[in-house]
Amino acid sequence: MIKLNGRFKLLSGNPLDSYVTPLTKNMTLPLVLANKVGLILEEDIDSPQGYKFILRKKPSVNSKLSKEIEYLVSTDLQHLDEGDVVRVEGQDSNVRVLYRRKSNQNSILITEQCNHYCLMCSQPPKDIDDGYIIDEVFDLIKLIPQDTLEIGFTGGEPTLFGDKFLDLINLTKSYLPNTSLHILSNGRSFQDIKFARDYAKIDHPDVMIGIPIYSDDPVMHDYIVQAKNAYNETIRGILNLKSLNQKVEIRVVIHKLNAFQLSSIADFIVRNLQFVDHVALMGLEIIGFTRANLDLLWVDQIEYKDELSKATQILRNYGMNVSIYNHQLCLVNEDVKFAYRKSISDWKNEYVPECGKCLKKEECGGFFTSSALYKYSSNLKPFRNNIEEDCI
Ligand code: SF4
Repeated sequence: MIKLNGRFKLLSGNPLDSYVTPLTKNMTLPLVLANKVGLILEEDIDSPQGYKFILRKKPSVNSKLSKEIEYLVSTDLQHLDEGDVVRVEGQDSNVRVLYRRKSNQNSILITEQCNHYCLMCSQPPKDIDDGYIIDEVFDLIKLIPQDTLEIGFTGGEPTLFGDKFLDLINLTKSYLPNTSLHILSNGRSFQDIKFARDYAKIDHPDVMIGIPIYSDDPVMHDYIVQAKNAYNETIRGILNLKSLNQKVEIRVVIHKLNAFQLSSIADFIVRNLQFVDHVALMGLEIIGFTRANLDLLWVDQIEYKDELSKATQILRNYGMNVSIYNHQLCLVNEDVKFAYRKSISDWKNEYVPECGKCLKKEECGGFFTSSALYKYSSNLKPFRNNIEEDCI
């Protein structure tokens, strides 16, 4: 697991503001560029002048500190590297890594507000004015390198910002024209055809919206998301988006309430939404509200593996693009391996002690750190060679 939050130790200077800043290791930048970036110093050497701040990875034993702002980087943030972007809160030296240059899974939080209250929400919504987050993302987008392959926007519900959300997509298209954009949304805002049209008009060259459907039964879906009429609005949103030729992915997070109905959900999708671009069948992350509702939601992946196979085959038979995310390789049937993906972001990916001698660890997606620490299947079967039947 890679830590994205932490604290720097202030060594010198008097930082007053919070700032979103890219990092560099280049010690010879001209002043006009240096004062916009933070310099990472890997060695114990004297500090160059003119940088917005300096991050020392080692304590200064033999070198002189500048009178400017300098921090000592904590052990768990030593991974910080050229091109990363961080937010540092000046007074407290709190750090949040907003973008990692080496990661292909940069997921950017837009808001913690949401009009759902899902039983298994991993980012429990907050009823607060957190508009500063999206304002910060406007700054962040301008700092992300243009050769970045993909970024994601997540929440909360990003579309709650309405026109401001659309402005952000527009800005992203302008600054990162070659970067794929993946947006997580509950889709309900797109039931408003004007909003859907304004979104489509942006004409982003490579954007996909991931929208959850948790059941083919509207009552069950609304129960899971704890919002009345959510199902109808979500389906209308998907239909509007597809009528405007926008890319849509359906996301089904699997838990005890829907695990044994997966083939019904797949049937519903192939009959009514066959035109969507991707279907992701996703394992549960044991974090946020899931922990509070664990008895209601927890199901061992081994218990629904045949239902998962059935649903995956239905989607495949109808020519749909299907992926299985967040599952352990030894808990799915061989017939779904074509759809199996290592999907958990590197910063929250973990393996458990049972995986130690497994020969397919490289192929296996492993666990969310949150789940590995909390609850996981007692039916793991480490592979002892590369032949499926020979797992222990
Ligand atoms: S035992 Fe192997 S296949 Fe099973 S979860 Fe661990 S690494 Fe994955």
